[in-house]
Amino acid sequence: DSADYDSETKSVCPFCGVGCQVSLKVKDGKVKYVEGINGPANEGRLCVKGRFGYDYIHHPHRLTKPMIRREDAPPKGLNVDPADLSTHFREASWDEALDFAAGGMAKIAQAHGGKAVAGFGSAKCTNEEAYLFQKLIREGFKHNNVDHCTRLCHASSVSALIENVGSGAVTATFNEIENADVAIVIGANPIENHPVAATYFKQFTKRGGKLIVMDPRGQALKRFAYQMLQFRPGADVSMLNAIMNVIVEEKLYDQQYIDAYTENWDAEKAHLKDFTPEKMAEICGIEPEVLRDVARTFAGAKSAMIFWGMGVSQHIHGTDNSRCLISLALMCGQIGRPGSGLHPLRGQNNVQGASDAGLIPMFLPDYQSVTDDSVRKAFTDVWGSGDFSNEKGLTVTEIVDDIHAGNTRSMYILGENPAMSDPDVDHAREAFAKLEHLVVQDIFLTETANYADVLLPASALYEKSGTVSNTNRQVQMVRPAVAPPGEAKEDWWIEVELAKRLGLGWTYTDPGQVFDEMAINMRSFDNITWERLKTEAVTYPSLSPEDPGQAVVFGDGFPRPEGRAKFTPASVIAPDEAPDAEYPMIMTTGRQLEHWHTGSMTRRSTVLDAVEPEANASLHPKTLRRMGVEPGGMITLTTRRGSITIMARADRAVAEDMVFVPFAYVEAAANILTNPAIDPYGKIPEFKFAAVRVEKA
Ligand code: SF4
Repeated sequence: DSADYDSETKSVCPFCGVGCQVSLKVKDGKVKYVEGINGPANEGRLCVKGRFGYDYIHHPHRLTKPMIRREDAPPKGLNVDPADLSTHFREASWDEALDFAAGGMAKIAQAHGGKAVAGFGSAKCTNEEAYLFQKLIREGFKHNNVDHCTRLCHASSVSALIENVGSGAVTATFNEIENADVAIVIGANPIENHPVAATYFKQFTKRGGKLIVMDPRGQALKRFAYQMLQFRPGADVSMLNAIMNVIVEEKLYDQQYIDAYTENWDAEKAHLKDFTPEKMAEICGIEPEVLRDVARTFAGAKSAMIFWGMGVSQHIHGTDNSRCLISLALMCGQIGRPGSGLHPLRGQNNVQGASDAGLIPMFLPDYQSVTDDSVRKAFTDVWGSGDFSNEKGLTVTEIVDDIHAGNTRSMYILGENPAMSDPDVDHAREAFAKLEHLVVQDIFLTETANYADVLLPASALYEKSGTVSNTNRQVQMVRPAVAPPGEAKEDWWIEVELAKRLGLGWTYTDPGQVFDEMAINMRSFDNITWERLKTEAVTYPSLSPEDPGQAVVFGDGFPRPEGRAKFTPASVIAPDEAPDAEYPMIMTTGRQLEHWHTGSMTRRSTVLDAVEPEANASLHPKTLRRMGVEPGGMITLTTRRGSITIMARADRAVAEDMVFVPFAYVEAAANILTNPAIDPYGKIPEFKFAAVRVEKA
């Protein structure tokens, strides 16, 4: 009952890219209850994370005061007790901490050049904060070594989309599945990772839509599927090329669409000749007749959509995987009409917005290339600053290598936890320990913050103002329901104060001013204003001040030369490391329903942590029996990078030669094991495939 609360505030869930709108009920300065409201993506629904995952914001581990590493602190490592930071850090005033943070970066830049200072921004912050972060690095240090977690999730998808359709965002909202009759979900587990989107997928099947699920791991959506293709890990390209081979051989493609809107079809067609279902079945493990049926079903659809997740993107051939999905949609003319389109399901709540805002080393806002002189000029004119480097910057994993090489000496990390999320994470942790100066701005002492020289206490999403953009391209406003604890501040304020101390002369006094500045050089924000967002969510592109936005784009051509999308053929590339006698099984990583990414928020949420309190790895029951391990027993997983001991869980959805490990648990960090080999285009690591040895502990 609303009479039970002091206030109610509308905002957006801080977890996944679905972007559910919430109402936050506050009593005595604390959020006490969260309910779903009628946002465009959720229509009142919430999953367990959105509904119950809120009390982390009131957790006693919150950083509430700026802190500076003590001169007599023990060596850097994962050795700080989050309940008592005083062994390693001392309290400081904001002035002292900001001077120390900015002064340290400036000193290193002066001595070694601007490139000695790099930045990781956050997909958990607002659009305005992401924009300010990339601006601070580019304007302050004159280079592009600034990135964020998109590098670890959908960088390869974005790379393929920009290459072949001219834009990195989805071509249709997930709600468009209402208008589809066939949908493919590949390399995604939406019931766990995008639960509210999954409710739309289930409804689609209930009204007769044919859902085709493709994933090496079984999943709950299988129950709703017309076909479930449990293909061999890493065999995506062979399976997708075989499906397209059938479409070519049986002439099921849409020649009219291909002629009107695409290029390079002849090369694609010729390339696909060799990928017969019979040959590819040996690689992907799917029967030729199933491949044929899927090809005929997809090509025969009136309207069809393709959804994909990190099972597609997190491979050394992640870009090739996405190229195949794009080609499949293009050859069947399944882009640009209601119920058709391409939709990479975005992970973090604002990874779309942070990428749009230019928090990537190759692009300024709206994916405008840093190598283009006129683009850089358009920005520096607005910023009133000098030019910066025209070289593409280093990515998340490249910056870690650059620290080891002795070039990057200082970092500013905001709301990211690479000491848990990077592949081969011991390599990343060693790098952070080597930094001469590390500024960490966050709400908790994350694993990364253990290595900080200065800690700047920031705000959770429910404590701040700004805008975020979800997987559907919907821009929505977030509002503060409660004040940040203690002396913690909104992230944009901290960024502005650092910039002032770096001599950048920033004068923003609220995020609305930042939004207005972004809109000058971002055509995606045309017709979208701060004032408008106060009363409605707007999907970009919005064609007029009254247009709620375009759910489906590219009905009349693509933002590429001559308006044509491109077919880019993809060949079969084996995963980076094959299982062998020493490491005979395959490890894959991911999330689970109750925990979010590196666990810093959800493991401090009472209900979620009570449901999933312990690090676990899932294996097929037969595999466990063979090893003599009972479910709940302990096993040791070892790869070429390292070893962890973890509780075993029986799960028939996992193939007998596989093990699935969530990456939320510091005590058994999955990323100690993962392979840092990267996709050459999207530069995304191969989180989804590592050769592993599994033993009874
Ligand atoms: Fe939050 Fe995603 Fe769940 Fe919606 S589906 S409540 S955005 S975690």
